[in-house]
Amino acid sequence: MKLYNTMSQKKEEFAPLEEGKVRMYVCGPTVYNYIHIGNARPMIVFDTVRRYMEYKGYDVNYVSNFTDVDDKIIKKAQEEGVSASEISTRYIAECKKDMAGMNIKPATTHPLATEEIPGMIEMISTLIDKGYAYEKEGTVYFRTRKFQDYGKLSKKNLDELEAGKRIAVEDQKEDEMDFVLWKPKKEGEPYWESPWSEGRPGWHIECSVMSKKYLGDQIDIHAGGEDLIFPHHENEIAQSEAANGKEFSKYWMHNAFLNIDNRKMSKSLGNFFTVREISEKYDLQVLRFFMLSAHYRSPLNFSAELMEASRNGLERIVNAVSSLNRLLGAAGSREASQEEAKLLEEAKGFVSKFEEAMDDDFNTADAVSAVFELVKFANIHASSENSREYLEALKGEIVTLCDILGLLVDKKEELLDADIEALIAERQEARKAKNFQRADEIREELLAKGIVLKDTREGVVWTRA
Ligand code: AMP
Ligand code: ZN
Repeated sequence: MKLYNTMSQKKEEFAPLEEGKVRMYVCGPTVYNYIHIGNARPMIVFDTVRRYMEYKGYDVNYVSNFTDVDDKIIKKAQEEGVSASEISTRYIAECKKDMAGMNIKPATTHPLATEEIPGMIEMISTLIDKGYAYEKEGTVYFRTRKFQDYGKLSKKNLDELEAGKRIAVEDQKEDEMDFVLWKPKKEGEPYWESPWSEGRPGWHIECSVMSKKYLGDQIDIHAGGEDLIFPHHENEIAQSEAANGKEFSKYWMHNAFLNIDNRKMSKSLGNFFTVREISEKYDLQVLRFFMLSAHYRSPLNFSAELMEASRNGLERIVNAVSSLNRLLGAAGSREASQEEAKLLEEAKGFVSKFEEAMDDDFNTADAVSAVFELVKFANIHASSENSREYLEALKGEIVTLCDILGLLVDKKEELLDADIEALIAERQEARKAKNFQRADEIREELLAKGIVLKDTREGVVWTRA
C-alpha cells in the first residue's frame, strides 16, 4: 500500500511503526456552527483511509479532536449571550449527527481541547525548561528559530517567511516568527489557571498534546486539509519534536480543497453550504459518494450537476443490489455450478482492480470505477436461473467494496421489523379493499429489500432473504 507523504513529497510504501497497528490523528473542526461541506471532505476521505486499512487487517487507533475553545466560539457565545461551552457542546452534537448521516465511523477517541488543559500546561512547561519557549507578561511563545527543522513540512524558509511578515504588532515577542502557546484572558473570556496567567492555550498546542496522550510520542499518520500544512502542522511538529525529542509523525496526508462553482469556498464570500443544508436536498450518502468520485489530492468542485451525477451513480449500485436481493428471495438453495464458479473468479478481477486503486494512494476515483464495472457484470450475469450461493457471493463483493467506501447500498438492512409489519398491515388492508395492484406493489417493494412474504392459513409470515 502506497501513500503520498507531504513530508517527502513522494508516494511511499506504507510501513507502520508497529506491525499490524496504525496510529492516526486527524485534525478536527472548530465547533462554532454547523460544519460546512469543505469540513466534510477530510472527514470522509480519512474515514475511508481508515476503513481500507481495517479491511487490510490493520488495527487502527483513530483520534480526531474537536477544537472547543477559540475566538470564533467566544464571539458566537457573546452574540447569543450564552457561554462558550454551550456553543461548543451544541455544535459538537450537531457535527456528530452530520457525521452519522455521512456514515463516518466515530473516532476511537474524540478529545476536546478544554478537557486537556493540564496536558497542555505540562508540555508548555517542558518546552520552557528545554529553552524552546519563554514567557512575557503572561503570554508564552514558542522560540521558533531554536527549532532547527522549522519549515521542513511546508518547505518554507524562516528568513523568507520573516521578510513577508508585516511590522510587529506584538512587540513583546523575541522574534517575529515566534508563535503563541498560552495567552492571558481578555475580559469576559473563558480561562484556566496556569503558572503564567489566567488564560487559555494557543490553537496548535492542543493537537501535539492530544496526539501524545492518546497515541504516544510517535504516530504513523497525521492528517487534515492542505490549509493546515502551514502554519498549523509545521507548528505542531516544532512543539512535539522539541518536547519529545523524537520524529512526530511518519506520514503526513493532506486533502485538497473543495471549491464551489470553481471558486474557493469561504464564509466571507458567502458561497458555502453546510452539511445540514445539503441533507435537506440529498441523502448524505450522495455527498459521500460525490467526495469519493475524485482523488483526495485533487481539488474538487461542488456543483448541482455533479451532485445529480453522484445521485444517479449511487442509485445504479443500490438498484443492482436490490435486484440481487429480489433474485435471492426466490433462489433455490443449490450450490454454485462450475460455470458460476468461473464467473465468480471473473468478478474477483474487479475486486483486485479496486484494491490496486486503493493501494495507489487511495485512488477512490478508480476504486469507484471498479465498483461500477462489478455492478455492470452483476447486472449481466445474475438471473433467476442462478444459485443462492452464487448470488450471495456476487452481492457480497459489491457490498464489501461499498462498505470500504462507507456507502450503504444494501437497503434491506435499513428496514426495521416495525416498518415491515406496517407494510404487511397495509397490504392486508389493500387486499381487503380488493386493491390488488397496491397489494402486489407492497410485496414487490419488500422483495426488493430482501423480505419474502408467505401467505399461510395463520396469516402472513415474513423472512429476510
Ligand atoms: P477548521 O474547522 O477550519 O479547522 O477545518 C476543519 C478541517 O476542514 C480542516 O482539516 C480543514 O483543512 C478542512 N477544510 C476546511 N475548509 C475546507 C475546504 N473548503 N475543502 C477541504 N477541506 C477543508
Ligand atoms: Zn491539529
